[in-house]
Amino acid sequence: MWEDDAERIMATPWPNKPCPHCGGLVTDLLAEMVSPGQKGSPEQKALIGMRPGGAITCPYCQGAIEHDGAGELVQSTRVPLRFSRALIEQRARDFGDHFHGNPNLTPEEWIELDKAMPGALRAYRYAEDNP
Ligand SMILES: [Zn+2]
Repeated sequence: MWEDDAERIMATPWPNKPCPHCGGLVTDLLAEMVSPGQKGSPEQKALIGMRPGGAITCPYCQGAIEHDGAGELVQSTRVPLRFSRALIEQRARDFGDHFHGNPNLTPEEWIELDKAMPGALRAYRYAEDNP
């Protein structure tokens, strides 16, 4: 149990910083929501550790963002990790069911209600989606 809690805390960086591309306030990088094939990758570990070495998409504009050496969010030239549609939709359903009695909550509704990021995930290209 303790390890689960520790992992949960580790897996949830809350930068509360503006996106360096679009200026949207990123309250959560959602680094734990990347596709299962990327879990445990050096890129994901860098994101969770809030250090350089891995990029993820901005939830609003899908621009590549990563941490610099000071832990600030900066534009990245790396190919960013993308969120898993399956994981995000499951999280939205669980959150909606638990807190709003609505198991059909959409990812866009979830990220606004749970993460205070209205407007995020609109027209998002998920890891499962072909370019
Ligand atoms: Zn952005």
